[in-house]
Amino acid sequence: MTDLKISVIVPCFNEEEVIQRAYSRIKKVLDDSDNNGQEIIFIDDGSSDRTLDHLRAIAVRDKNAKVISFSRNFGHQQAVSAGIRYCTGDVAVIIDADMQDPPELILEMTRIYRNESCNGVYAVRMKRKGESAFKKLTALAFYRIINFLSDCPIPLDTGDFRLIDRTVIDEFNKLPEKNKFIRGLISWIGFKQVPLYYIREERLAGETKYPLRKMLKFATTGLLYFSKKPLKLAISLGFFNILIGAFLILYAVVGKLANLIETVPGWASLLVAVIFFGGVQLLTIGVLGEYIGSIFDEIKARPEFIIGQKLNFDD
Ligand code: UDP
Ligand code: MG
Repeated sequence: MTDLKISVIVPCFNEEEVIQRAYSRIKKVLDDSDNNGQEIIFIDDGSSDRTLDHLRAIAVRDKNAKVISFSRNFGHQQAVSAGIRYCTGDVAVIIDADMQDPPELILEMTRIYRNESCNGVYAVRMKRKGESAFKKLTALAFYRIINFLSDCPIPLDTGDFRLIDRTVIDEFNKLPEKNKFIRGLISWIGFKQVPLYYIREERLAGETKYPLRKMLKFATTGLLYFSKKPLKLAISLGFFNILIGAFLILYAVVGKLANLIETVPGWASLLVAVIFFGGVQLLTIGVLGEYIGSIFDEIKARPEFIIGQKLNFDD
């Protein structure tokens, strides 16, 4: 079957060191593949280095290399969303610019896509090379926690590296939410999606563009948008406190009546109770605040990103 047009979506933020090599490798894979049209969509997420210059040069040489440049840095998920919105392929593959996800696997993904007649192929990381122990550990914990908390199943150890077909792309583009946790949303959309296991390589060059601050924002969006369980935490904590309180009341009343305890001393237990309940209250207010903050973000209804320029698009 040679009737597939393939779109490859590549978010780029300060990737001047890798972008040329990434382009050549992806291009080679697409040229080797059995397809009926191809495009590589690079989204420049407000880079402050020469990434956009490189992309412009690539776009001049290759009409199938398309560039969307943002007015500033909006974030990885926003960049991928833009790619999904403007891609024209029958299938789209989302891939990082740093080549941690080997583009050669695109061939395997399209093969599985055809054989299994599914709507998506998601790449599951069996092993991660060249990443810090901290990153590996937090990622391991994150996917398990979100899978446990989420109201819909989200595959473990699976990033955005995946193939999705037009059915999924069209459904994705209908989603109105502004803060998108893409890997969760694509699972939530459903249809038949199958895994492909792979080893995540080292970054070609340069540093990670996901510092702790961005990682936390990403993880919080995932948790808040895919679970209401943290809100229920307040109820569980409340019941737990009532239980402890009941024991303390019993202890105080019975102790006093039976003259078993001195009533004036006791500042220690009071202090403990005040600190503990204070902490619990702040925690639950904080959780509430996070949800309210997300509602606030959504209700403002600002666009997810602002595009400065588009190259090699027909319009
Ligand atoms: N990225 C982006 N905007 C950002 C941060 C990252 O478009 O604000 C891109 C980056 O260029 C890369 C992909 O998202 O193509 C994943 O980032 P990175 O490889 O730095 O993350 P890591 O693999 O370390 O988690
Ligand atoms: Mg990376």
